[in-house]
Amino acid sequence: MSQANAKLNAFPVFMRVDGEAVAIVGNGEEALAKARLLAQSSAALRVIAEDADPELLSFIAAAGAVHVDAAYDAAQIEGAAMVFAASGDEALDRRVAEDARRLGIPVNAVDRPELCDFFTPALVNRAPVAIAIGTEGAGPVLAQLLRARIDRLLSPSLGRLAALAASLRTAAEQLPKGNRRRFWSDFFAGAPAKAVEAGEFDKAHEAALDLLASDAPAAGHIALVGAGPGAEDLLTLRAHRLLMEADAIVYDALVPEAIVAMGRRDAERLPVGKRKGCHSKSQEEINALLIELGRAGKRVVRLKSGDPLVFGRAGEEMAALRDAGVAYEVVPGVTAAFAAAADFELPLTLRGVSSSMVFTTGHDLKGNSLPDWAKLAISGATVAVYMGRSVAAEVAGRLIEAGLSPDTAVAVVENASLGNRRRFHGTLADLPSLEERADLTGPVMTIIGDAVAGANFERSEPLAAHRLEETARITAEGVQQ
Ligand code: SAH
Repeated sequence: MSQANAKLNAFPVFMRVDGEAVAIVGNGEEALAKARLLAQSSAALRVIAEDADPELLSFIAAAGAVHVDAAYDAAQIEGAAMVFAASGDEALDRRVAEDARRLGIPVNAVDRPELCDFFTPALVNRAPVAIAIGTEGAGPVLAQLLRARIDRLLSPSLGRLAALAASLRTAAEQLPKGNRRRFWSDFFAGAPAKAVEAGEFDKAHEAALDLLASDAPAAGHIALVGAGPGAEDLLTLRAHRLLMEADAIVYDALVPEAIVAMGRRDAERLPVGKRKGCHSKSQEEINALLIELGRAGKRVVRLKSGDPLVFGRAGEEMAALRDAGVAYEVVPGVTAAFAAAADFELPLTLRGVSSSMVFTTGHDLKGNSLPDWAKLAISGATVAVYMGRSVAAEVAGRLIEAGLSPDTAVAVVENASLGNRRRFHGTLADLPSLEERADLTGPVMTIIGDAVAGANFERSEPLAAHRLEETARITAEGVQQ
């Protein structure tokens, strides 16, 4: 049977249980698991358990459930809205199921699908929102994996937002039909949602009332989002959520396609970055584009590699947005230095060796005066050099000149966090060789300092080896000629 017409053997519904009795028969672990699940609802739990395990007993007390401390009898399940047979004893579970059926009560028997009228789902609970996952015969492990995956996608504050939505339903019904959808979409992704996320519930309520009262089109919003160093799963959960809500995604060249693809299918995707040989927008053009999208009421994710506030020109974009009165927020990301350090198991701070770190770019070394960070490097700071490949010789030369030992350890990572990463190690004296390497085509992070000596060099190549090989090759060519 093809996927398209595969049928569900169990159809999901939500059963009303508020204040209703729900009976669980069993005195051990299985009964406890069901009691825990059901305690997420406002049902009146009735646990029928003779000689209950201590853990079950304390749960019953904590949950305020009714405990029937007696051998099972059909009369105990009368009047219940649902019954769970969780005794672990097949004969007893069967008896419970038969009694329930006779009394017209839907029954579930743990691990005995043939006795079940219904199955319990894996549950993502953001009351009043519930997501129930059923996998029929495929088993609980799959259900729990899916549960975890879905749980991560949803904001922890979704329940609060949904509760606020429920309180506004009647008022929203008064809106003309065309505006209603717009209202809800702005409500769930605009200012009210943002305020709930920030824990500002009064503000959320006010923002929702403003939305209800205004005829104005929705205000746009720009999220400056860090996409991380490259690996898709180093994206933050918040970044992922915003991507899925965005109307437009404006992204730099270093942001991997796979991350851009996580956006809503119908989102506008606007590349603005510098990729070799392609036209790229100037910073002014990017600022103008963000303002234009914001003014058009779009929810925009401005994706930058790593962290947006580290060598990402976010300062200029934020200033332009502020001046234009377009709302924005910043979502941090894993910066390249952290990814490179992780790939090298390199402690950026190391007790007794280095207690400060510098994020820098080699480009400010071009002038005559030594920048401040060189002094920090000399006094032991760990230095992460962004965009440093083409100025590697300059960086090394100036630092050595300033008094840093040529033997200072250096670690270099190309494509940090990605499957095709390459690691190199050496000393400051070896660093200039980076510039000559045409084989390094990905982004490169250089880390300099005594703390680098604490890294793991098992999977890295010596920087100097390349220089030796080059020399050998040139010499060999010379001999052949
Ligand atoms: N905002 C980014 C930095 C942008 S500047 C961040 O926080 O990481 C671009 C420079 O970052 C590159 O020249 C390179 O030095 C570094 N970089 C970015 N991604 C990298 C990666 N996966 N591996 C190594 N270096 C990287």
